[in-house]
Amino acid sequence: MSCNCTNICISGCSYNDDMSDDKYAFVRALRMSGGDGANSYSANSLLQRRVLSMAKPILVKNTEEMMINLGFPKYIKVAELGCSSGQNTFLAISEIINTVNVLCQQLNKNPPEVDCCLNDLPENDFNTTFKFVPFFNEELMSTNKASYFVYGAPGSFYSRLFSRNSLHFIHSSYALHWLSKLPEKLENEKGSVYITSSSPQSVYKAYLNQFQKDFTMFLRLRSEEVVSNGRMVLTFVGRNTRNDPLFRDCCHFWTLLSKSLRDLVFEGLVSESKLDAFNMPFYDPNEQELKEAIRNEGSFEINDLETHGFDLGHSNCDDGEEDDDEAGYNEANAIRAVTEPMLVAHFGGDIIDILFDKYAYHVTKHSSCKNKTSVTLVVSLIKK
Ligand code: SAH
Repeated sequence: MSCNCTNICISGCSYNDDMSDDKYAFVRALRMSGGDGANSYSANSLLQRRVLSMAKPILVKNTEEMMINLGFPKYIKVAELGCSSGQNTFLAISEIINTVNVLCQQLNKNPPEVDCCLNDLPENDFNTTFKFVPFFNEELMSTNKASYFVYGAPGSFYSRLFSRNSLHFIHSSYALHWLSKLPEKLENEKGSVYITSSSPQSVYKAYLNQFQKDFTMFLRLRSEEVVSNGRMVLTFVGRNTRNDPLFRDCCHFWTLLSKSLRDLVFEGLVSESKLDAFNMPFYDPNEQELKEAIRNEGSFEINDLETHGFDLGHSNCDDGEEDDDEAGYNEANAIRAVTEPMLVAHFGGDIIDILFDKYAYHVTKHSSCKNKTSVTLVVSLIKK
């Protein structure tokens, strides 16, 4: 793949002199916290698990439609993009295999053999993920006669990952809001890690532009890999602001992270310039922006597009009966699992515990306010 990046790029391009500049080391460090310890992604991703169950009806519907439209192929290849580490990785893949088998049983067809490819960035903790393969097998074997095979596909989804016309179904959840690199010209974004209500319009435009470039590239690359009438089900953290693209709730997760980092600046633990130089390679599109990017790229037709609520505050509490302090720590742990490698690369490891104590405190200060800006967007696409 050729690439004209002028700053750091985590896609399949090689770094030029600019890119090796250490000020972007944190972008290269993007990954979820590995292992299965207390601070790991595996142990702090209940929100993302809930999102997967929210998207299940669309996943099931599109799997069935794909099998029918493709005339019940004897073999299918399925990819989970941005699979991360832990059990969430297998939830969608299991659902796809179960759906295919139930449908085949109902219609008296032979189930296909299924190749399941698990993709994430090369630094992802694939070891932890692969340790769950026997559990995945056990569960699926008890209910299915299908033969399926699990493979790793390390690399950026902003580069080619699979051979031409080889994929029948792609699933990706809560991964495509991560950008391939930081937008250029963020120099006016002071004291904050992301767009806030007081950011200049240029900051929003720079982020939107980077998202459009990345997502367009993603669609173009996948269009080469997916067979005609193949499907993709993609889930994003999005936003529902139409009129004011800068607006983010005061309890938005990146707003609270900015606040917590500013506390550390105030206490002399982090320098102001260090904070100014740290920005999230992330963008939360609204429905319109997502639709436009898909239409403009042109290879896929939108089949479903749904907007769901977003509730990070109770992300790690199954029964919903947590007190404010617990909710604060749960949200802090969820954000920590997603950002710790990037924060350590930029600020060093010493500030992390204290930073997330501050974060938990800020969550409790906002306990009556809910993040209404963020939503979950689920879109299903058919390859033309
Ligand atoms: N799908 C999982 C994980 C979501 S976390 C779940 O629903 O729980 C997002 C994942 O996307 C992370 O593991 C991150 O490393 C991965 N990711 C981010 N950018 C990526 C890229 N360019 N290519 C591949 N994976 C990427």
